[in-house]
Amino acid sequence: MIEIAKLRKTFDKLEVLKGINLTIIRGQVTVIIGPSGSGKTTLLRSMNLLEYPTEGTIQMGPTTIEFKEKSKPKLSDVLALRKQSGMVFQSNNLFPHMTALGNVMEAQVIVQKKSKEAARVRALELLQKVGLKEKANAFPHQLSGGQQQRVGIARAMATDPQLLLFDEPTSALDPELIGEVLKVIKELATEGITMVIVTHEMKFASEVADRVIFMDDGRILEDGTPDQVFNHPTNERTRLFLSHLN
Ligand code: ADP
Repeated sequence: MIEIAKLRKTFDKLEVLKGINLTIIRGQVTVIIGPSGSGKTTLLRSMNLLEYPTEGTIQMGPTTIEFKEKSKPKLSDVLALRKQSGMVFQSNNLFPHMTALGNVMEAQVIVQKKSKEAARVRALELLQKVGLKEKANAFPHQLSGGQQQRVGIARAMATDPQLLLFDEPTSALDPELIGEVLKVIKELATEGITMVIVTHEMKFASEVADRVIFMDDGRILEDGTPDQVFNHPTNERTRLFLSHLN
């Protein structure tokens, strides 16, 4: 689905990703865990080029981009790669002046050039999927944080991306709202949608993941099934991280 090789990212002098090799398998849910500052979000944002890696290669579907420190990638390649994934952010970044329906229609009309009617039909389907069809005409400020995140999920799916990326989708929510968002993601996981999820919700991670990746200090230190990583970690730093959670 997506193949990442020797990926490095530096911000000024700070090296945040130190040579990441990672293949994401179609239909799998991959969860990335690790301490704050370990580079999880930067890796996720690199997958749809919200950040340009400093060096390395990303291949996704028919598009391969090789990043070099001194040269910018071709815009047509960047757009081709971006089109293949949808992103759900930490806290809602819905368009505040648009209804839930409008938010889910927008990219279909603007990017995919669909007719408004076709976009509306698909948007309503997706809002139903996340349990919010009755809120189609509500504006973001009229929705709870959890509902906003569910609209964000519907919006990320609206252009039928091959891959859904979640950047700590519940970290900005009050505890009582977390469950409804995780439930929606779990349902999508059972439908075979390819997902990469950065989260601090370890119980959710163990339930939803086909594969868990532990990152520390810009590197992948552990990569395995939830049972392997949570119950039989091979790396001392993984053990330490998991022990601090309990
Ligand atoms: P995580 O998601 O694991 O908490 P991040 O990928 O957000 O880690 O951040 C990794 C490191 O990169 C941190 O030290 C953070 O301060 C730094 N960083 C992230 N984004 C930027 C940026 N845009 N400019 C400078 N430093 C950044």
